[in-house]
Amino acid sequence: MATAVLIGLGGLGCPAAVTLAEAGVDLRLVDDDVVELSNLQRQVLYGTSDVGRPKVEVARERLAGAGLEVHVDTARARLTADACDDLLGGADVVVDATDDPRARFLINDWALAHGVPAVLGGITRYDGLVLGVGAGGGPCFRCLFEAPPADDEVQTCVAAGVIGALAGLVGHLEAERALGLLAGDERRHTGYLTTVDGRRGRVRHVHLPADPECPACRRRPSRRAAPPRPSTEAAASA
Ligand SMILES: [Zn+2]
Repeated sequence: MATAVLIGLGGLGCPAAVTLAEAGVDLRLVDDDVVELSNLQRQVLYGTSDVGRPKVEVARERLAGAGLEVHVDTARARLTADACDDLLGGADVVVDATDDPRARFLINDWALAHGVPAVLGGITRYDGLVLGVGAGGGPCFRCLFEAPPADDEVQTCVAAGVIGALAGLVGHLEAERALGLLAGDERRHTGYLTTVDGRRGRVRHVHLPADPECPACRRRPSRRAAPPRPSTEAAASA
């Protein structure tokens, strides 16, 4: 049974958890937050009676109560550089469902360094994006954005506001992308950025070439960009 480590159990993480669990994927849920009343409209695993309780605890109960035969492990923690090995180790795929761009870079870099596929996603007020990064290397999130924004540039969903339905759609797309990567189909699930225009309901797929100077994936270049391997005969005679 494959295990997906899902970081963040907010508007993206709730639908992603349900979709992955329904597909029979074991989960490790990571979040340090508690359920808040103001977020309930986009966080479908929680109800008003859960306010104040840890999200990981409530999510595990809901998934167990749905009769889904998957193992759900939880960690009430925030993803930091020091915690990556503990929280992400053993993952067959990592799904980023945080509203913290810095965590997105940590997941990207850890996944590339360990040859684990990852799905990165995010939403702002009206727009969403999803990117699959293959176990075989880039293109990756750093090919698109070189470095995390400064602390004072980070705008969370709380500050920016977000449309609940957009979060649901992006979380579901992330889970679908993770299922494709778990199935080993990197050709169809990496190498492009999916953008979601929440105002027009438009989903686009934009080709994303690997940046040859990318600090995260240049040592693990895209298999598409890699030169053909020498034949066994040529390797033996080298
Ligand atoms: Zn890259």
